[in-house]
Amino acid sequence: MFQSTLLGKTSKHSPRDAESISHILLTRSGYIQQLMSGVYSLLPMGFRVHKNIENIIREELNILGCQELLMPSLQPANLWMESNRWDTIDPPLFKFEDRHKKIIGLASTHEEVITDLARTHVHSYRDLPFSAYQIQTKFRNEMRSTSGLLRVREFIMKDLYSFHRTEEDLDIFYEAIKAAYARIYQRCGIRAVPIRASSGSIGGNFSHEFACIAPTGEDKIALCSSCDFAANFETMEQGQTVCPQCGAVLTTESAIENGHIFKLGTKYSEPLHATFVNEDGIKKPIIMGCYGIGVGRLLATVIETNHDENGMIWPVAIAPFAAHIIPLTSSDDAIQTRISNEAKKLYETLFSAGIETLFDDRSDATAGEKFKDADLIGLPHRIVISEKTLAQDSGEWKERASKEIKILRLSDIVSLMKS
Ligand SMILES: [Zn+2]
Repeated sequence: MFQSTLLGKTSKHSPRDAESISHILLTRSGYIQQLMSGVYSLLPMGFRVHKNIENIIREELNILGCQELLMPSLQPANLWMESNRWDTIDPPLFKFEDRHKKIIGLASTHEEVITDLARTHVHSYRDLPFSAYQIQTKFRNEMRSTSGLLRVREFIMKDLYSFHRTEEDLDIFYEAIKAAYARIYQRCGIRAVPIRASSGSIGGNFSHEFACIAPTGEDKIALCSSCDFAANFETMEQGQTVCPQCGAVLTTESAIENGHIFKLGTKYSEPLHATFVNEDGIKKPIIMGCYGIGVGRLLATVIETNHDENGMIWPVAIAPFAAHIIPLTSSDDAIQTRISNEAKKLYETLFSAGIETLFDDRSDATAGEKFKDADLIGLPHRIVISEKTLAQDSGEWKERASKEIKILRLSDIVSLMKS
């Protein structure tokens, strides 16, 4: 991708209402743009990261046999009345009347629709268990939206639902998803710990949130220094400094909540009559679980945990491009042509090797501006081609996360990027 044609220019100015570092950096770098309160466009680079995160989630769920589907956002009021959530879910649904005076809701979650699918397709114990998920747009009628992608009114969520014959079968699947979530966060460059949470208006009686450790996080959590105990500070007894599980010292961390998983039991299958006939010929309500991750919120959380004073630092696995090629200018026309040609050759070699690269071909930007923008945009590898490096048939190679600069032969840069 040539930077001169990229939709989404960098800016020196922070958004006026910014409350979080991810909001400031994602806006200034041209990854996102606000349309109205709590509603954002993902510009091409933001969308690339979003897709990379989606694909990590897909890989981790597909390997467990979860099936991807797509359910509608427009939903009839009567289905939500069956679960008794039409007027009680918090935050409330966006609601409106169509031209035939039918009342419709814009969904913030899909328990009702997936349970309706289950009651149509599940009849016997032989149809269970199964799990299905989607990566789809949700709407939340929030009272107040803040912090860029951390709290929004329209967003893309991965929501997974599982269906079981027994509580024991749900328990096994729930633990498998907990482990899959740990891998998803780790692959996105985040340290996350599961914490017991309240089930809110999704319901059920057992749930975990994932606390992503971030110095800018608003939640305070307590972590055990020796076992896997972790809890939100608010839920703990005052002044508790040792682990209730093993007695070791507790440490405090700031965190951002991201991802919530629930054992729903029969909260939806009973009122919606989603049943199956068991091995003894008895009709039973299906046992359910549900498991969410807000993809944009996860993207913002990555930046809350991976940045410095100059900009974002994308982990290689989800970066919009792996490399950033920056040819410097020269006042000597012949040298300038050689720099441009060598830089383009490198770009084409990386491109044909399947390595996604951003090429800073802007002729109106100074070297200083190009370096500043490269730090802000935060691609994992920066390769500078200049008169000086070309004299050694080389490029200046630097990782975004490190200060160290190496002069490497162009062919070695290619092999390094391929490995
Ligand atoms: Zn402990």
